[in-house]
Amino acid sequence: MSADSKVSDSFEIIVVGGGPVGAAAASALSRQGFKVALLERGSAPPPYAAADYDLRVYALAPHSARLLDDLGIWPDLLARRASPYTGMRVWERGPEHALRFDCADTGRAELGWIVEHSLVVDALWAGLGSVVRYERAVIESARFDDSCTSLRLADGSELRARLVVAADGADSQLRGLAGIDTVGWGYAQRAIVCHVQTQQPHRAIARQRFLASGPLAFLPLADGRCSIVWSAEETLVQELLALDDAAFMARLGQALEHALGEVVQVTPRISFPLRLLHAQDYARAGLVLVGDAAHAIHPLAGQGVNLGFADVQQLAATLVEARDAGRDWSGLRNLQRYGRARKAANLEMLALTEGLYRAFRLRLPGLKAALGLGMEAVDRLGPLRAWLARQAANA
Ligand SMILES: Cc1cc2nc3c(=O)[nH]c(=O)nc-3n(C[C@H](O)[C@H](O)[C@H](O)COP(=O)(O)OP(=O)(O)OC[C@H]3O[C@@H](n4cnc5c(N)ncnc54)[C@H](O)[C@@H]3O)c2cc1C
Repeated sequence: MSADSKVSDSFEIIVVGGGPVGAAAASALSRQGFKVALLERGSAPPPYAAADYDLRVYALAPHSARLLDDLGIWPDLLARRASPYTGMRVWERGPEHALRFDCADTGRAELGWIVEHSLVVDALWAGLGSVVRYERAVIESARFDDSCTSLRLADGSELRARLVVAADGADSQLRGLAGIDTVGWGYAQRAIVCHVQTQQPHRAIARQRFLASGPLAFLPLADGRCSIVWSAEETLVQELLALDDAAFMARLGQALEHALGEVVQVTPRISFPLRLLHAQDYARAGLVLVGDAAHAIHPLAGQGVNLGFADVQQLAATLVEARDAGRDWSGLRNLQRYGRARKAANLEMLALTEGLYRAFRLRLPGLKAALGLGMEAVDRLGPLRAWLARQAANA
């Protein structure tokens, strides 16, 4: 820090990044009695506009719903627009051979809920309560320390805290400033996202077909349409994006093997690059990583934000337990406890997702047969099927 920077304010915890995971972290930690600030590079999210169904949706698992309930916003989300899904169908060739996950496998009334990104973020920001917010705040430098981390902002001010929580996404600036390495790769793939109306009703079932070019998901929306996430190589994505609506709907219907009949209506299409990323450390003196700042995952298992919400639950529990026991809650040893717990769980999900992606994409029949991972075989393996269903529901 230069001598002319002024300490604008001090907090116990500063969360950097106001996306779904950062906003949830700020809210959860503030509710536990910590003095918290939330610092976002952009503006506060615009108010949720129900008329514009957000193209970006999350498949929220039950544990994510529990966190949002603890934060007091779940009933509001349910009332405004959340689409429960009660089953999943996953197949490679022929929807009639699909691997079936149903509520009965998990003993729940639903496997999860499809909820719009903009609704989740809007509700989380509305529930920030006493969290002090800094919007359009640009970090210039950071100094990490066990007892006090300081952030120098572009306007010359300085913020201090015992702990900084990096929730600043996959390109995390704080992770870079702390010198934390990552492992991972781009898939040379993008995901096309849009909403469609199909001839046949979705019946609250999420469907995913593994094509050689990548997975295609149809997620059931509350208004009867489906949200599409279609992952494929760059060249195919460019080709699909360039098609007119009629040609795109025909390709989409074929790609799903007409499991819901023809696709009869489509919104504009957008696309996102896909990558796998994992931080080598989740904790350093005065800093922890949560959400995509710590791990980015292929969307085929729909787990990205769910892993981030699980990070938040673990972090809050670890900090509160140490504080209530009179231990140094922001000390590196305690932060490493959080890191160890989440790294193991996140790596398991990264490996499972990566294994599924490769098994289907590389089309290794020998390997799949050896592993007994043919879809029909998995369907017959009761306990494995139930285990996969539990993983999918993250129960
Ligand atoms: C095509 C696609 C489909 C997906 N579908 C699903 C799904 O169905 N289910 C699911 O669970 N997940 C899904 N994901 C993943 C999910 O979107 C991410 O896991 C999730 O957005 C991560 O949330 P986050 O808050 O960690 O990061 P982000 O959403 O990236 O938010 C980061 C925030 O930090 C801010 N920020 C960045 N840098 C700074 C800085 N230096 N200073 C201050 N603020 C900063 C940003 O402005 C942003 O607000 C999908 C992803 C893709 C690409």
